[in-house]
Amino acid sequence: MLKLDFHPSGRHFLQIPGPSPVPDRVLRAMSLPTIDHRGPEFGALGRKVLADMQKIFKTQHPVMIYPASGTGAWEAALVNTLSAGDAVLMFETGHFAALWQKLATRLGLKSEFLGLPGVEGWRHGIQADMIETRLKADTGHTIKAVCVVHNETSTGVTSDIAAVRRAMDNANHPALLLVDTISGLASADYRHDEWGVDVTVSGSQKGLMLPPGISFNALSPKAIEASKSATLPKSFWAWDEMLEMNKTGYFPYTPNTNLMYGLSEACDMILGEGLEVVFARHKRWSQGACAAVNAWGLPIQCADPALYSPILTGVMTPEGVDADAVRKLIYERFDCSLGTGLGKVKGRMFRIGHLGDCNDLTLIAALAACEMGLKLSGVSLAGSGVLAAMDYFSAHPIPALIRS
Ligand code: PLP
Repeated sequence: MLKLDFHPSGRHFLQIPGPSPVPDRVLRAMSLPTIDHRGPEFGALGRKVLADMQKIFKTQHPVMIYPASGTGAWEAALVNTLSAGDAVLMFETGHFAALWQKLATRLGLKSEFLGLPGVEGWRHGIQADMIETRLKADTGHTIKAVCVVHNETSTGVTSDIAAVRRAMDNANHPALLLVDTISGLASADYRHDEWGVDVTVSGSQKGLMLPPGISFNALSPKAIEASKSATLPKSFWAWDEMLEMNKTGYFPYTPNTNLMYGLSEACDMILGEGLEVVFARHKRWSQGACAAVNAWGLPIQCADPALYSPILTGVMTPEGVDADAVRKLIYERFDCSLGTGLGKVKGRMFRIGHLGDCNDLTLIAALAACEMGLKLSGVSLAGSGVLAAMDYFSAHPIPALIRS
């Protein structure tokens, strides 16, 4: 029999940048009995979560909910809006941007990958001016979509999507804007309508604090119009039947009912707290984590402090120190899971997630695990990151959290 109770006493510290720790309240909501997905109660649940998700994406337009991981929603965004051989312009912010580009190529799209050179390029955000220059040169408008990642989970860099929109407008280019905020939604400021995004892709297992298994496409009227003539093959991902059935809260095929209960509960928590407070809370955790990394004297993977991700902090290990060996030691000694370096930065950095069911004390404990693990790995630290984070959190209460 597979042994699943492999964690020692106390709670495991799931500090990867998603799947994030799921609040007990959400877990309890998901433990309700599964209901008939064609019955009357389900329609009310479907309508509620669809309306809640519009608030979270900040859109007046339809949101698709798929029983799939984020990769499925990436595919859905492309196959619903594009046709074989269409050119798409993508920007290499890191590993997830590269995976989306691979997916686009496999679908038969002509993907062009802009980016800053080398491994150093993965320390920066999207360069909107490069997109603008490229679109201005595309006078025949062969590029049909610009695809970018908002919060690059592999590096901890959050890019400025409004700047990408401005670049497209400055170039007066009609391409669709497709944005992946799989790890940004409900943790980092995101505005689908205001930023003129045509399709936003997201997933359940990050800021929404759910287990993996649900993903989303938020649409614009322009994207819906494009879907009427797009010819890439699609059936499961097709928006048309989904749009029709969602009007009454139902789905063309079986939705994952219990995750929907969890989604409803998570939306109540997030919208009840207020999105702006949720964003401030994550930003503050990022600042506490960065204070720790700075005190250790280690470089942060994101080279631009204005773009530090509110969701995760990437820590670069010194030359000759294998970041994965440090992670392994921290996992084995302190029961704390950290994110691995992916793609070009494998072995060079690890990632500390600060999202989901998290608070100041759980983050301080995770930083303590990192500090002990780095020291045990022979890394000489300039000072205590744990003390720096404690000082930061003590000096910076979130206004909305101060109890009278
Ligand atoms: N895009 C980003 C930014 C991600 O962080 C992830 C997963 O971590 C994905 C896409 C892929 O999503 P999934 O693994 O749920 O298919």
